[in-house]
Amino acid sequence: MAGFFSRSVRATADEDAASDEAPLRPIAASDAIRRVELLDSFEAAGLGWFWATDAQGRLIYLSDNAAEKLGWSDGEAIGKPLGELFIPERADDPNKPQRPLAFLLSARNSISQLNVRLAFTKDEVWWEIAGKPQFDDKGRFTGYRGSAKDISTSRESRLDAERLAQFDPVTGLANRHRLTTRLTETLKAYRNSKRACALLTLDLDRFKQVSDTLGHQAGDELLKQVASRLERIVAGAGEIGHLGSDEFQIVMPDVDDRGALGELGQRLIQMLSQPYSINGARAIIGASIGIAIAPYDGLDTEELVTAADLALYAAKGGGRGQYRFYSSDLKDGARHRRQVEEDLRDAISNGQISMHYQPLVCAKTHKVESCEALMRWDHPEHGDIPPAVFIPVAEDMGIIRDMGEWALNEVCRDAKQWPVDLRVAANVSAMQFAHDDFAQTVRNALTNSGLEPARLELEITESAVIYDVETAIVTMSELSALGVSISLDDFGTGYSSLSYLKRFPIDTIKIDKSFIGEVTTDRGSEVIANTIIAMAHSLELKVIAEGVETEDQLAMLKRRGCDQAQGYLFARPLPFQEAMQSLQF
Ligand code: C2E
Ligand code: CA
Ligand code: CA
Repeated sequence: MAGFFSRSVRATADEDAASDEAPLRPIAASDAIRRVELLDSFEAAGLGWFWATDAQGRLIYLSDNAAEKLGWSDGEAIGKPLGELFIPERADDPNKPQRPLAFLLSARNSISQLNVRLAFTKDEVWWEIAGKPQFDDKGRFTGYRGSAKDISTSRESRLDAERLAQFDPVTGLANRHRLTTRLTETLKAYRNSKRACALLTLDLDRFKQVSDTLGHQAGDELLKQVASRLERIVAGAGEIGHLGSDEFQIVMPDVDDRGALGELGQRLIQMLSQPYSINGARAIIGASIGIAIAPYDGLDTEELVTAADLALYAAKGGGRGQYRFYSSDLKDGARHRRQVEEDLRDAISNGQISMHYQPLVCAKTHKVESCEALMRWDHPEHGDIPPAVFIPVAEDMGIIRDMGEWALNEVCRDAKQWPVDLRVAANVSAMQFAHDDFAQTVRNALTNSGLEPARLELEITESAVIYDVETAIVTMSELSALGVSISLDDFGTGYSSLSYLKRFPIDTIKIDKSFIGEVTTDRGSEVIANTIIAMAHSLELKVIAEGVETEDQLAMLKRRGCDQAQGYLFARPLPFQEAMQSLQF
C-alpha cells in the first residue's frame, strides 16, 4: 500500500522536479508512541524541557537534559521540591530580594514566562518556566505540569542591552534617556511638596579640538577622565549624565542654594580645566555651565532643560570657562545668539567684516614697529559686535577657519600697501592653528599678497599649542621655516610652563592685559609681569605688554626691560585707512 502511494505521488508530480520527497506521515493525536518520540527529540535538542510535580510540589519528572544541566545524575531530580530550587525575578526591580518560587506555586495558579534563578548556586543560572496546575476529576489539585528553558545567555544580553539603553558605554554615566527619565520622575514627585531640584548643563570647551588632533580614542579617554572628575566632585549629591559628545548634565534633587551651586559650578570648571594626561600627551580643555532650578526656572523637564541650556549659552557667550544661572532675560539673549549665528554666516560676503590695526611701539623710543590686526564686525542692526562675542560663535559654528583664512589674506594685502616696512600681527584661533593645512594657508596668503614673510607675525594663544605639543612644534617649525614669526598671546592666563616654552620655536611673548592693567596697583600682577619679562629674556624671547593705558604702567614696564608696548595710551585699533593716515609711519 505504501509503495503504491509513493509511486502515485511520483506519477502526479512529473513536471515538478522539486517534489522528490518522502511520503507525508502525519502524527495522529492518538499515536502516543510517535508523539512521545516527538517530545523526546524536542527535549534532546535542548529546545525546551518538561517538568511535573506532585501535589506537594515535589518533582516527579524533569527532562534528562535539564537535570544534567543542573549537575544531577539519573533520577536525582525526583522528589526535589521545585519551589525551593528556584527564586523568581521581581519584575519591578531585578535587584530586589525575592521570595522562593514555592510562594507562587502555593497559589495554584498558572504561571507563564516566569524568569527564575537557580537558588543553590552562585552562578547566574536563569530559567524561564511555564506551568499549569492539574486537577483530578474530583477537582483535587494533583500537581503542576510545565515546561522550562535555560535563558541565562539571552537574559544576560537583554540586561546588557537594557544597561546600554540607560548608560553611556564610554563613560559609564547615565545617558540622556535615563537622566531625562530621572529628572521627569523627580520633578513630578516634588511638584506638590514644592521641593527644589537643580539642573546643571555642562559643555566642554575645546573638546572637539582635542579629539580631532589626538584621535577618536583619545577623545573617549578624555571623556572617561572628565566623568571620573565629575563623579569625584558631585560625590553622590546628584546624578550625572553624559548626553553625547561633549555635553553633560547633573540632576541635583533638593538643592536650591545659589551660593552652594555657584561654588559647585566654580569648582567643576576649575577641576575640569586642570590638564589631562592622555596616552602620554597633555590635553587641556575648559568647561562652561548653565544652571536652572525647579520650580523657579521651570516646572517640568522641558522647561527646566531649556532654562539650563539658555544659561549655558550665556555662559559660553560670556567668554567660556564660566557658569551662569538662568534668568528670564536670557530668552532674549538666546534669540540674539541665533540671530548672530545666522548673520555671521554671510557677514564676510556682505562686507561687514573688516580688519582694524593697533600699533605696537618700542617701549624705549615709542616708535611704531608693528601693528596688530583685530577683526571687527559692523552689524547693520546691532552695530559693532566685539570679537570676544563673535569669534567663539564662529568657532562653534565651524566657520572660524574660513574667517581666519579670509583675515590672513586681508592682513597680508593691507600690510603690503603700507608705505613703510612695518610688521603686521594676525591673531590665529586655536582651531585654525590645529588644522592640518594651516601652514599652507599662511604660505598662500603670503604668495597671494607678495608680503615678505619676515613682516608677518602670528599671535597664537597657549591653548592652541599646549594640548598637543608635538604637533604644535611641527606646525610652528613649518611657519618658522617660511620666515614668519610667532608670538604667544595672552601669556600668563593659561598653563604655560617654562619647559614647554623652551621647546616652542617662538619669538615673542605677549603679557596679557589683565596683568598690565593692575601692574601698578596690584603687587601680584606686578610680580607676574616681572617674572614673565625675566623669564622671556632668559630664553632670548621678546616681550610685549598689551593693554598699556597709563604712563605709570609704561614707566614700570620700561624699567623692567619690556621690549614693546601696545595699548590705548598710544592708539586704539583703527580702520585700515585711518591707521595709514594717523600713524607716523
Ligand atoms: P587679543 O588678541 O588679546 O587682542 C587685544 C585686545 O585688547 C583687543 O580687543 C584690543 O582692542 C584690546 N586692547 C588694546 N589695547 C587696549 C588697552 O589699552 N586697554 C584695553 N582694555 N584693551 C585694549 P578686541 O579687538 O576686542 O579683541 C578681542 C580678542 O578677540 C582678541 O584678543 C583676540 O583674541 C580676538 N580676535 C580679534 N581679532 C581676531 C582675529 O582676526 N582672529 C582671531 N582668531 N581672533 C581675533
Ligand atoms: Ca592678540
Ligand atoms: Ca591678549
